[in-house]
Formats: sequence, structure tokens, C-alpha cells
Amino acid sequence: MLLGGIEGGGTKFVCAVGDETGRIHQWVRIPTIDPAHTLDAAITFFKKQEVLRSEPLAAIGIGMFGPVDLNPASEHYGYITTTPKPGWAFTDVVGPVQKAFPDLPVGFDTDVNAAALGEQRWGAAQAWDTFIYMTVGTGIGGGGMLAGRMLHGLIHPEMGHVLLTIRAEDPLERGICPYHPNCLEGLACGPAIQARWDAPGESLAPDHPAWDLEAHYLALALVDFMVTLSPQGIILGGSVMHQGQLYPLVRQKVRALLNGYLVHPRLETLEDYIVAPGLGDDAGVLGSIAVGQAALAAD
Ligand code: ZN
Repeated sequence: MLLGGIEGGGTKFVCAVGDETGRIHQWVRIPTIDPAHTLDAAITFFKKQEVLRSEPLAAIGIGMFGPVDLNPASEHYGYITTTPKPGWAFTDVVGPVQKAFPDLPVGFDTDVNAAALGEQRWGAAQAWDTFIYMTVGTGIGGGGMLAGRMLHGLIHPEMGHVLLTIRAEDPLERGICPYHPNCLEGLACGPAIQARWDAPGESLAPDHPAWDLEAHYLALALVDFMVTLSPQGIILGGSVMHQGQLYPLVRQKVRALLNGYLVHPRLETLEDYIVAPGLGDDAGVLGSIAVGQAALAAD
């Protein structure tokens, strides 16, 4: 079965065709320019793949940067809504894809919920039905599942914007989020690291104080999620998490902050509790394929 996935990000769209086993057959990276050009290029890629493979797509899934409208009853369902990204506010994403493939189920979710679904189907979360997937990159976003259902709610979770206390020794006076002086994203996303140390994170040594501070902020947020949702595990992905030294640091700080309050064998070392994506950097696009597969199953 040929399934399409669109991982829509603020700087690039990754489109892929794959199958129900979680294998990617072909993919393409499209810069996020303006909606018309970017969506056209995505649609062209899928049309071409159908011809090349002499097989029609069975479904397309879209995992999109947000905020997005996930409410099927809303007139703006399938839209990116209030994004500050120029040209993309109130952009219909599902509409043009559905118009190009009128008979196809088109699934739509946040980028992080899509990644969570991919991880649950083929990656690190296969044994879990209640968990969080958080990406730490250009921004910070979180999604996941609660008792086997994607976390949606009134709008959708925006875990990157939980409010934290700024550490006294933080060189930044306030985080870089335009909405909140002290939210997780504003203090711990890649551009915040760059603003704080005047250098991109990937140029900082693994023992640079940047990482202790980064792990501190991530751990503060994760502890709040743990006591709120009681997840069976937490997956941390995104470009900032390519700094592998962060995982043990985050685990250590989460343990210290919990201070022995939550007792469960899985929380003893946190090694198989706070983990990297099993699908690596493919979590987002494979997750979008999984969103398409779920739309097909629900069709
Ligand atoms: Zn914020």
C-alpha cells in the first residue's frame, strides 16, 4: 500500500511516500516559501510518485507546524491559524491537498502528534498508550497520546509554552518567545541557545554550561508533564537533542526535581523512560504517513 506523508515545518516541508510497515520509498525536501508554491511542489511530488510506481496513493497524512485547527466541525479545519510566520497565517493546508486528490482520505494533525503516532506505530513508543513526544529545535512543541488517543482537546497541546522560573545565572534576561518572557520554548529552543551564548548550539562543547542550563529548563517542564499526565515514557527529538549529552543530564535533573516523590520501577534510572526517537530524524515524516494510515482506517 502506498501512503503519503507531509511533515510541514517552518523552514522545510519533508514529503515522502512509504508503506504500512514504516518504510520510506522516496522523499523530497521542499523549502517553506509561500503556501502556494510549497503546497504545489508537495502535490507534484505525490502525483509523480503515483506515476513512477504505477500505484495510486491510498491516503495522505499531514503533520503540520502550528497552531493548527484540528476540529473537523470548524470552518477553518485543516488550516494553520495564527502563526507569526509571514504569509502563512490562516493558510488552508488540507484543502489544496484534498482538491488534488479528491477521493483520498487526508489525515491532519500537529507535527508533534504525527511524530508521536509514528513512534507508537514503529518507534520507541510501541509499548505505550500514554506518552509524550517533544521536539526541541527551532521551536519546542509537544504532543502525544492519552490512553491510546492523540492529545487534541480544545485546540491542541502547546507544551513548548509552559511557564518556568528563569534561573538566576541565566545570561538571558528573558526568553525569546514574543508572547511569554519565561516559557520553555523562549528559554530552551535552538535560537534561544544562540541568543544566550552568541553562538549556535552545535558549536558549543559538550561540557559548555549551555547544556546544564538547557537540561535544567527541559527537566522543569518534563516534571510538570509527568505529574500532570503520568506518561509511560517521554520521547525527546529535534535538532537540539542531537546533543546526546543532554539525555543523561535531563534524566539526572528530572530525578533530582522529582525528589523521590513518584515511585515506580521505570522511574528509577529513567534510561528507558526519557528516550530519543526510535525513528530518529524520520519520526516526523513517518509519523505523517501514520496519520494518513489512521485517516484511511477511519474512512
Ligand atoms: Zn511562549
